[in-house]
Amino acid sequence: MVIEPNKVVSVHYTLTEGTADGQLVESTTGGEPLAFIYGVGMMIPDFEKNLSGMKSGDTFAFGIAAASAYGVYDETALVEVPKNMFEVDGKIPDGLLEIGNMLPLTDQEGNHFQGMVAWVGLDKVKIDFNHPMAGVDLFFTGHVENVRDAEPAELEHGHVHGAGGHHH
Ligand SMILES: [Zn+2]
Repeated sequence: MVIEPNKVVSVHYTLTEGTADGQLVESTTGGEPLAFIYGVGMMIPDFEKNLSGMKSGDTFAFGIAAASAYGVYDETALVEVPKNMFEVDGKIPDGLLEIGNMLPLTDQEGNHFQGMVAWVGLDKVKIDFNHPMAGVDLFFTGHVENVRDAEPAELEHGHVHGAGGHHH
């Protein structure tokens, strides 16, 4: 059975930055494989394109440029705001504004999103709203663990049931 739309695909993969020898981002080695329904928009499109037509046991090694993955780094998404925005009862909570912290924020329409503290000054901070992987070229190596038909319930729910997926 080959990988095509509406198959449940499980893969073991290692994701590194730029090349196969780049910095390790994540790996399924030693854990459960990643399982997903192919062709329903769950994955980065270029990730799926590279697996098209493969079958169980096939190996892969391919790169995806940042622009086709989590986007290029956007300088305008690095925003300077006054520190007192984060005051609670007139005081900034201890440890809140530390570089690298992810802050849960809400915009005027009530949408929830996250920003990372990128710089802390005397009375201002810079919050980075780029995806943490923005500007990073991805490289995937791994193999196809299994390919099977998706169950009707899986297609209806839009996620995989059982190994590597939802248990409910
Ligand atoms: Zn479900």
